[in-house]
Amino acid sequence: MHDHRRLGRELALFDTDPLIGAGLPYWLPDGAVVRHTLEEYIREAEREAGYRHVYSPVLGKRELYEISGHWAHYSDDMFPPMELGAEQVVMRPSLCPHHALIYRSRSHSYRELPLRIAELGGMYRSELSGVLGGLTRVRAIQLNDAHVFCTLDQAVDEARAALDLIARAYADLGIEAARYRLSLPGEGGKYVADPELWRRATALLREVLDGAGVDYEEAEGEAAFYGPKIDVQIVDGAGREATLSTVQIDFHQPERFDLHYIGADGAKHRPVMVHRSVIGSVERAVAHLIEQHGGAFPVWLAPVQLVVLPVAGAQAACAEDVVRQALARGLRAELAGPEHGSLGARIRAARLVPYQAVIGEREAAAGLAAPRLRDGRRPEPVPVGELLDRVAEQVAARGTGLWGEGGEASGA
Ligand SMILES: [Zn+2]
Repeated sequence: MHDHRRLGRELALFDTDPLIGAGLPYWLPDGAVVRHTLEEYIREAEREAGYRHVYSPVLGKRELYEISGHWAHYSDDMFPPMELGAEQVVMRPSLCPHHALIYRSRSHSYRELPLRIAELGGMYRSELSGVLGGLTRVRAIQLNDAHVFCTLDQAVDEARAALDLIARAYADLGIEAARYRLSLPGEGGKYVADPELWRRATALLREVLDGAGVDYEEAEGEAAFYGPKIDVQIVDGAGREATLSTVQIDFHQPERFDLHYIGADGAKHRPVMVHRSVIGSVERAVAHLIEQHGGAFPVWLAPVQLVVLPVAGAQAACAEDVVRQALARGLRAELAGPEHGSLGARIRAARLVPYQAVIGEREAAAGLAAPRLRDGRRPEPVPVGELLDRVAEQVAARGTGLWGEGGEASGA
């Protein structure tokens, strides 16, 4: 597999600057397109699955993380607090406490549950080994996060639905899960001490995994400080394993934040909190997609979907018009005219772009375009409208194939 750091630089997707700092990459326009498209995909998948999206601040008072337990169990990974008048403010190490407060801000009846709150939100980790030049060990993280507040009876179904959502996203994105892991606590004072809580949550997660019919391994010392979790592991270009997606069933945070709902009996009950992330951090997910596809993204994710190539200056106006039509259809299209070199050089420069449309004298006269596909195929010239229809269909279907292949692999 490829190295996303090298490709990220080569393809101008993202970069870093020592003046901004290690582990703090910025996104260049083409990388920003991939990221934005991925974020839109995940929001849409979540909306379909019954999630509602919120925004919450990346800062919070130190007391918030004292209540959540982060301060006692996770402060090594947090940035030092900032003094703000008489208060201390912290860059948040997770979104969970904010979502617990969003839940708590309204009273809830059992009829509203499960309540699924999702956010693509920023969080920060004081990663000492933040590596300059990569997206996988970063200090500023955009997390695809969600919390499902539900009754105890609903928790297993909700966690299983989250696993289904993960499997569907992996299929759409062409990501392969290396293995499922049940992450359990290890030795040491890193974990909240409540054996009954751990026992109950672990039993439910086993039920989820067994019900989903997936093979899994158990790993001690990999749990969150507040509870066990299901981790979906992937393998990167260098053969290293990493966690991309997680599902957790949590009894701890609802206690700490004193969350409740009104049951059918009119009394207050404690909800369960299911934490889940479908694609984990956007940074890690994009790094993985870059490596997986070697920069040859599926057409719907590609920064540029169609490059239009006039053979000579005489066809430039015609080619410009094709680009305009493509843009009007919502496609990401660019013109590469003769001022960028010979036709051969321009074709080579656009080799990772899924579709090229060559406009020669004959095509210009007849309103045609000669398609060149990234996989090497050269279909006969077609009317420009038909070419654009085909590309637009592929984008809408989010397939991984080209030119009517549907969801098949493009061989990238
Ligand atoms: Zn959480």
